[in-house]
Amino acid sequence: GAASKAPPNPSPLRNSKFFQSNMRILVTGGAGFIGSHLVDKLMENEKNEVIVADNYFTGSKDNLKKWIGHPRFELIRHDVTEPLLVEVDRIYHLACPASPIFYKYNPVKTIKTNVIGTLNMLGLAKRVGARILLTSTSEVYGDPLVHPQNEEYWGNVNPIGVRSCYDEGKRVAETLMFDYHRQHGIEIRIARIFNTYGPRMNIDDGRVVSNFIAQALRGESLTVQAPGTQTRSFCYVSDMVDGLIRLMEGANTGPINIGNPGEFTMMELAETVKELIDPEVKLKVVENTPDDPRQRKPDITKAKELLGWEPKVSLREGLPLMEDDFRQRLGVPKK
Ligand code: NAD
Ligand code: UDP
Ligand code: UDP
Repeated sequence: GAASKAPPNPSPLRNSKFFQSNMRILVTGGAGFIGSHLVDKLMENEKNEVIVADNYFTGSKDNLKKWIGHPRFELIRHDVTEPLLVEVDRIYHLACPASPIFYKYNPVKTIKTNVIGTLNMLGLAKRVGARILLTSTSEVYGDPLVHPQNEEYWGNVNPIGVRSCYDEGKRVAETLMFDYHRQHGIEIRIARIFNTYGPRMNIDDGRVVSNFIAQALRGESLTVQAPGTQTRSFCYVSDMVDGLIRLMEGANTGPINIGNPGEFTMMELAETVKELIDPEVKLKVVENTPDDPRQRKPDITKAKELLGWEPKVSLREGLPLMEDDFRQRLGVPKK
């Protein structure tokens, strides 16, 4: 059938023995939070050449400064809603704003990035015979009616809400991935990423962990959005990057959940940040945003069985690592 059709052959030169183990890797969105950590990890392997394509909407060159000028590294200012011509073996397709305040800022652009951007990267994968990995999201489960969420669950998503540009955008991106796989034999991988945190998150991007840490360091009250009993499961970024590389180099298309199953209410998270950073800091309950999912926790059975992956860094170990980075960037030294 179409699904087993071999992808088009990459150039004969790169198939030759001399080049066999070298890998050219495109990372879209590589100037962002997860992308820049992924680039760091990929660059550790001397066989890898890494090309980042990013439009710097939410990412920055600063996140990649240690690689600029490196002979195995290239940074291109590029918007994935435009076609891209490069010759690569792997595409990690991350380009898309991930924080609600940024993806809601220009929702039409967000959906274009998800749909046209993913279409372009699939067209590229098809032309050069590359394997492509999409960073989808736990948001495809919407406000889930199944708990914890496994990959078989189809989700409970509002198609016309203010988050839809992101949730539905990623759902269409997943559909495109599978249609290119079935119709054109493209090698695909889909990761469903659950909330991830760590150094280099945008300080004011509105996500909960970055908000609480910045607030605690600035001596402001931690803003717990009502009711505070909603839950999330937070994965440290090094674990996430490890999971993404295993998925890319493994044999399964996915979708596979990648996240840390440790589940916390937002009130518990605030209490933990308070205890770790500043016991004097206050918590205040503020109004929430529409369609906020009430609970979220990954079922990672598949990742364990198929990728041999599970997270290693607990929230209590990861928060201080992020605190150090935020202290430096905010200029708040430890007392
Ligand atoms: P981020 O905002 O830090 O990084 C996204 C990067 O994509 C930025 O560098 C941004 O400039 C770039 N970008 C955005 N639109 C683009 C476009 N049209 N063309 C080119 N570049 C563009 O976010 P992140 O947290 O690093 O997320 C990376 C990926 O992981 C995203 O696809 C996101 O949906 C997914 N994800 C993240 C989380 C999380 O908790 N961080 C959770 C689920 C899924
Ligand atoms: N594309 C790209 N780089 C490539 C090849 C294709 O950006 O190296 C884009 C192309 O512009 C098109 C999309 O990917 O908009 C889908 O390409 P495909 O060949 O699948 O479809 P078609 O061009 O036939 O519509
Ligand atoms: N949240 C909060 N205080 C904040 C920011 C967010 O209590 O300052 C809550 C938000 O209501 C949601 C959870 O934290 O229930 C996670 O929000 P975030 O925007 O970080 O991620 P997402 O909703 O995409 O999972």
